[in-house]
Amino acid sequence: MQCQTVLPGTECTFWSKKGCIFEGSSCQNVIEACEGCERIVDGSIGPVCSVAPAPLAKWGQGLCNFATHQKVEIKTDDVKVNPLKASKKAAAGKR
Ligand code: SF4
Repeated sequence: MQCQTVLPGTECTFWSKKGCIFEGSSCQNVIEACEGCERIVDGSIGPVCSVAPAPLAKWGQGLCNFATHQKVEIKTDDVKVNPLKASKKAAAGKR
């Protein structure tokens, strides 16, 4: 259903016939870590996230997985390949 309070007219899974069913009956504002993210939109309570109602919780376990301004860096240099296993895998693939 469409939100009627923070982002009026926006489809939201938390809006029901009884109103907003999210914790506290409202989205929460973005936090400092969100600064620069393209998903920030202006709501009636100030800047909010267009995909996550609780930005603070999105950052609780580290980097927000929806963030557009920061990405997880995966280091491939540290991956060590066991030459014996690699050789066996390659041989298995040739059958
Ligand atoms: S997607 Fe994540 S980083 Fe971006 S505004 Fe929402 S909560 Fe913040």
